[in-house]
Amino acid sequence: MPITHFTEKFFKLKAEFIKDHIINESKQEYILDVQIPVKAHKCPCCNEKTTQIKNYRLRKVELGIQYNYTIIARYNHRRYICKSCGKSFSESNPFVKRYQQLRTLFKHYLIESLGEILSYTAIAKRFNVSITTVIRYLEKMKLAKPSKFPVVLSIDKI
Ligand SMILES: [Zn+2]
Repeated sequence: MPITHFTEKFFKLKAEFIKDHIINESKQEYILDVQIPVKAHKCPCCNEKTTQIKNYRLRKVELGIQYNYTIIARYNHRRYICKSCGKSFSESNPFVKRYQQLRTLFKHYLIESLGEILSYTAIAKRFNVSITTVIRYLEKMKLAKPSKFPVVLSIDKI
């Protein structure tokens, strides 16, 4: 399956936006150079439309893992500036929104998986991510200590 099918289907990242790709064999990364066209944005402050760009910042977004390679979108994230009120704001970006939704969904399922007895490897396989990603997410999660311990504690012999 060509990589562009994957990016279009899962991340709403159109093939025409992908200008180049680099394969980093040693890091097992597949880097996509993405260029999103300039689009009129509504100022969140005064609702005026603007296409005036204030600046760019190179941003990398991890899209997922395919064939044991981490797929990374690399693009110049724009900040627009409103000509009317002078406020600057980030561009809205459909593929980043999609990525954030997937991350939220992934976290939710990861928490659910903690209720089962699964190894990191099994969780990674289930969600098609690397073991490092699973460990990273688990480390980020701050699980609250129980406010009180149960009266009875049972321990099973393994
Ligand atoms: Zn404005």
